[in-house]
Formats: sequence, C-alpha cells, structure tokens
Amino acid sequence: MKAVCLKAPFTVCIEEVPIPERKPGEALLKILSASLCGSDVNAYRGGGKKFSYPSVIGHEVVAEVAGIDDGRPFKKGDRVLINPYVYCGKCYPCSLGHTNCCESLQVLGCGAAKGAMSEFFVHPDHLLVPLPDSIDLLTAPLAEPLAIALHGLHQAGIGQSMPTKIEYAVIIGAGSIGLLAAMACRHFGVAPILIDILDSRLSYAASLGFTYTINSASRDAVQAISEITNGVMAKAVLEMSGATAAIQSTLSYASYCGTIAYTGWPSSMTTLDTSLITLKELTLKGARTATSELAEAVTLIEEHKIDVSPILTRTVTLEEIPAALKALSDHPEEYLKITALF
Ligand SMILES: [Zn+2]
Ligand SMILES: [Zn+2]
Repeated sequence: MKAVCLKAPFTVCIEEVPIPERKPGEALLKILSASLCGSDVNAYRGGGKKFSYPSVIGHEVVAEVAGIDDGRPFKKGDRVLINPYVYCGKCYPCSLGHTNCCESLQVLGCGAAKGAMSEFFVHPDHLLVPLPDSIDLLTAPLAEPLAIALHGLHQAGIGQSMPTKIEYAVIIGAGSIGLLAAMACRHFGVAPILIDILDSRLSYAASLGFTYTINSASRDAVQAISEITNGVMAKAVLEMSGATAAIQSTLSYASYCGTIAYTGWPSSMTTLDTSLITLKELTLKGARTATSELAEAVTLIEEHKIDVSPILTRTVTLEEIPAALKALSDHPEEYLKITALF
C-alpha cells in the first residue's frame, strides 16, 4: 500500500509499505480522506517536538472499517472518524476522565506514533467516532480541528448550556482553528472578535460574515475590543495562535471575571502580568486536544449547524500530498485546509 512518509525534515514522499496487520481490539481501516494540519507542516520543517523520522504523517483522517472483531459497535463498511489521541487509560488524568491530558498521550503522526496518511491503518477500535454517510469526504476530516476549537470554547465556558451569558469572545488567530472557533461561537450565540496580524486572514473572516476583526499589528486591539464591547471587554478569550505576545495580551482583552482558554502551544516560556489576574479575578484554563468534542463536531456538521467547507482551500489526491505539504509549508498564508481524497 502507499503511505505518506516523512523521511527526514523537508523530505516527504509516497512510499510502498506492507498493509499493517490487525490485532484483537484493533480495527483495520481503509483510509478515505485526510487533511493536512499545522503539526504535519511542523514535522515537515523539522520542528515536530518528538516526531521520529522516518514516519508517516497525518491525524485528521476518516476511514471505512475493513476489519474488526465481532461484537464491536462497528462493522465492516462503516464510516468512521479516527480519534487520533491514543491514551493509556491508567494514569491520573485518564482516571479522572481527562484522557486528552493523558500523561503518555500519543497523537498520531505527531510524535512516536505513526500517522494515518496511508491507504490502510490499524487503530484501537474504541478510538473510532461514527461518521454518517451524509457528511462528504472532503469536509469530514475537518471534524477533528473543529473538535479542537470546540474544546477551547468549552474550556472558556461556551457551549450548548452556558450558565453565564457570554456576549463576546475574543479569538486570537484567524487561521483554521480560529475560524472554526468563530463558526462555533456564532452557533452558540456568542459574537466572535477575531484578532490576527495578517489582513488577508481577517478579510477572509469578514467575507464569512464575521464583522468584528482586528489587526493587532496595525491597531490598538485593547482599544478596538473596548469599543466593540462598550468598555466591558470580552467575557471569554480564546488564545489559538501560540504567539508569546498574543498570550500576554489575553489578560488585557478579558473582561472582569472573564475566562481565558489557551489552545495555542507557545515555543518558549511566556511571562504574564499576574496582577491583572487578581485585579479582574480572571479564570485561566488550558485547552488541550479534545475528547467528546469529536462526536460533537461530527453531529454539528451532520446537522448543518456548522458549515466547515469555507476552510477547505484545496483538494488533492494521495499522490499529490507531498507537493501539497511543501506548498503549505512555503506559503502558509495562501491556505487554510488541504484535504486529500484517497
Ligand atoms: Zn490537526
Ligand atoms: Zn493516561
């Protein structure tokens, strides 16, 4: 079978490898489509923290069950979204049900665990999310980044039930995850305020109907948020860029008693003016990967509550993935998501 192999930084190719063998408790999956992610680009550039070259990339993947034990919730031919977060089930965070924070979490194609961008893949059969046939294969893999965005929202108190009314959410980073978060905010009745330093990203967000966009490189974002929110600032702040300056700015973007969720991974240590946390009595929360949000994302897409198709920039074939990955690395500003149809 063919697999998208990252041999070394900046060296990606299609390789012929044996079809993996399924063990009890695992499903053999025929991959149908997969999207490229920023972490695939990171690994391509040699920046993947624990990526062990050579390996296969890919964690935003949908598949058809090609082999599975009897008596499981899935059968041959069923469509599934792969849950790419493989947890141990035994450590302290797993015992609390926070499997997304597993002490030995393995993310497909991001560390030691092999990614799923290959014609076939084996995966634990409890880490599969049912995928209705009505969801088209081009947008189906985007349920995974939507789940990441949803987890950020939930950590900031935004969701189906909101004990505290949240009128505005500042979203820092208007890339794929930021736009998906903005779509989800809109669905939950919260007005998103998108912040980025690229005008092209912000004008694309505006074209999707997101009226509050701020370029923090050319405008005083605190002033702009204050004007939009009548001086209150944002009850929820979603940090989705990982940039040090952006992380620091979250404390001044938040309202009194606001909540900030940090999804972006900073590359180095960030200092914060903690006096603002005390002064405003802020709640700071991490937001890492996702759990039940994968199924939630599939349902929101299936029920046409969130249309993720605007973040799909380009469609390619399996053979075209290496060139697409290079293009994404060379010109990240030109793309949101690239999906490969297998
Ligand atoms: Zn991803
Ligand atoms: Zn664990």
